[in-house]
Order: sequence, then C-alpha cells, then structure tokens
Amino acid sequence: MLTAKNIYKRYGTVEVLKGVDVTINKGEVVSIVGPSGSGKSTLLHILGTLDKPDSGEVFLHNQNITRLHGNALAAFRNQHIGFVFQFHHLLPEFTAIENVCIPGWLNGKAKSDVKSRAVKLLNVLGLSHRLENKPAQLSGGEQQRVAVARALINSPAIVFADEPTGNLDTANAKELHQLFFDLRQQFQQTFLIVTHNEELAQLSDRVLQMKDGKFQTANA
Ligand code: ADP
Ligand code: MG
Repeated sequence: MLTAKNIYKRYGTVEVLKGVDVTINKGEVVSIVGPSGSGKSTLLHILGTLDKPDSGEVFLHNQNITRLHGNALAAFRNQHIGFVFQFHHLLPEFTAIENVCIPGWLNGKAKSDVKSRAVKLLNVLGLSHRLENKPAQLSGGEQQRVAVARALINSPAIVFADEPTGNLDTANAKELHQLFFDLRQQFQQTFLIVTHNEELAQLSDRVLQMKDGKFQTANA
C-alpha cells in the first residue's frame, strides 16, 4: 500500500538516509527502531509528505506522492495521511470532540458523519466520558489518545506516529500501543510507529531497524 524506493536525504555534508526501501501493507502495525539521530523522524516526514527526499520515490496506492506540492499536497495530506507526534499539539480552546472533528470539517465531509466517526473513535480509545473536556482538563495519556483519534478522523490510508509514547509513563505507553491494535482491528487502520521502546516494538507485526541510513531487515 505504501512503498518507498531508494530514499536518499542529506543535511549539508551529513548523509542521513542512504537508500531506504520500505513497503507497508494495509492493516499492518509496523515499528521503526534505531539510535537517536539515525534518521527515523526524517524518514517518517518524507513518507508522510512533510518533507522531500533528495532522490527516491514514495508511492501510496501506486500514486507517486513524492513531488506533490501546494494545494494538491495539503489536500492529499489531510485526506490520506494521519500524524501523531510526541507532543499532542491539541488546540487548547476546543473540546476533545472538536479537536478530533476539525480535520474532518476541513476535509469538507458532512458534519454529522464526521461527528459520528469521532464519537466512535473516542469510544474505542476509552474517552466517551471526555468528549466535552478541553485538553487542559485531560491527563497526558488522554490528551495523546485524543491526538490519535484526530489522526484517524479522515480514515487515512496510514497513520505515522513519531515516538507517540515518548512523553508518557510506562503504563500509559503500553496502553496507547495496545490501542493501535484495537484501532487496526476495528478500522483496519495501518500504522507506522517510531519508538525507542524495544519492548513495545516487539509487539508489532514487524520491526524495522534503522542503521547507517538504511533498514537492516532484509524484508524491509
Ligand atoms: P531520529 O529521529 O532517528 O533521532 P532525525 O531524523 O531527527 O533522527 O535526525 C537524523 C540526523 O539528521 C541527525 O543528525 C539530525 O541532526 C539531522 N537533521 C534532522 N533534521 C535536520 C534539519 N532540518 N537540518 C539539519 N540537520 C537535520
Ligand atoms: Mg526522531
């Protein structure tokens, strides 16, 4: 479903990505591990159209998305790609359900359809009782779960999560990781997760090890 071929990226004289190949299938939960500074975030940004490779191509559903730009890129990203970062980046003045709904409204979907999907997602994430709370009234784990629901609101082809549990304690980290599998089960959602937590990574369908600017695994 997502394929990247021969991705290269350098910053100045530092070659960060040196020919990364990767394929992610629909419904997979795949983790990326590797030392700090090894290029995990750089790769995620390139796969998710937030950044461009120096060379190489990224395909989503056989569409080459490497060189999308301007309005076409913004619309494509909002509709087909979800992101979760280490910090939740929720809008403080909006409630949990509003934060989840906003990308759906921007996408031009019917308001009632967006809301009913948001309620469903927040329910799976254990937040049915938190719909009307603002981010400041939620715990760290709850805030991050709202951010996950927001990433899924437009039924993206894939959700990229960059150290989503990095700001959570062990129990909350484990719970969030488990929730990715619940969301896969209920919504056939595909996830690509950067994590420094090897133990959680091992629970994934596949683990890709970033080393020397490439994936070590043969089947990457
Ligand atoms: P990771 O996520 O694995 O910790 P990153 O992808 O963030 O690694 O960074 C990989 C390397 O690229 C690091 O050496 C980092 O300093 C460098 N780097 C990342 N982004 C930039 C940038 N915008 N400008 C210059 N160097 C960068
Ligand atoms: Mg990183």
